[in-house]
Amino acid sequence: MGDELDARLKAYEGLKAVVAGVGRDPVNAPMIRHWCEAMGDTGAAYEGPDAVAPPTMLQVWTMGGLAGHAARTDRTARTGGAGRTEAYDELLALLDEAGCTSVVATDSEQEYLRPLRPGDEITFDVVIESVSARKTTKLGSGYFVTTRMDVRVGAELAGTHRFRILKYAPARHKPKPPRPRPVVNRDNAGFWEGVAQHRLLIQRCTGCATLRHPWLPGCNACGCPDWDTVEAGGEGTVYSYVVMHHPPFPAFAPPYAVALIELTEGVRIVSNVIGVPYDKVRIGMPVRLVFHSYDDELVLPVFKAEEVAA
Ligand code: ZN
Repeated sequence: MGDELDARLKAYEGLKAVVAGVGRDPVNAPMIRHWCEAMGDTGAAYEGPDAVAPPTMLQVWTMGGLAGHAARTDRTARTGGAGRTEAYDELLALLDEAGCTSVVATDSEQEYLRPLRPGDEITFDVVIESVSARKTTKLGSGYFVTTRMDVRVGAELAGTHRFRILKYAPARHKPKPPRPRPVVNRDNAGFWEGVAQHRLLIQRCTGCATLRHPWLPGCNACGCPDWDTVEAGGEGTVYSYVVMHHPPFPAFAPPYAVALIELTEGVRIVSNVIGVPYDKVRIGMPVRLVFHSYDDELVLPVFKAEEVAA
């Protein structure tokens, strides 16, 4: 069975995954400038009348942008349409059917053969270079699929981009990892000592009495490094919140609400709202502090909704 699938997958090697791709924009100075700013690359070769594009921008010129390549109606009409081939879709579908429904990018590799300059119009094709035999990894068992994009200016090859993914069946029965532990340091140790005693301590500047949270080594209002604490009464309201759907972190079960709670003392703290479904959390909702034990070691201050909307 496995050998038969391996042979069927091997048959896709050498077939095209994308044909007749056309760069969304010609190579251009503004995108080069933004890239260099983002990367902090001040190389002299990337500006001025003889500028070249940073070689590592190779893939940038092949990207469709948020709208995707489908939005380039004028260009697709001119090139007869670019996009993923049926062969590549079939290969991915075959892997899905074999239970390899998860995907992770593992590595990529680029070769630069000719500098790209503002004004260059690029085209690209992608070939399925190899499909591995079935491999067992920590993530699960599956197949490495390597594609190679050839980027051209006219007939000339400007560079290649190899991209490898692992299509795999996730390993089952993984025990749920514990919640991440708080990072306790010199500046916030007092806060966590309070939590261990089921007390939510707010820092107070002894210079100007300004309250602050999260804990900091000095006062933002007056610069004074000295402080004491006041214990929060536990009353607050939801100042703002988000509902986490993605990405899923293994220790958590999405969806769940993460809220910024405004305490009656005036400071705000990021926490979870419990006692109410995630989609019933609302701005302004009154909440009350409780200390929740997540496991033998971890206790965290969370906030229980005071009333549940009918
Ligand atoms: Zn102060």
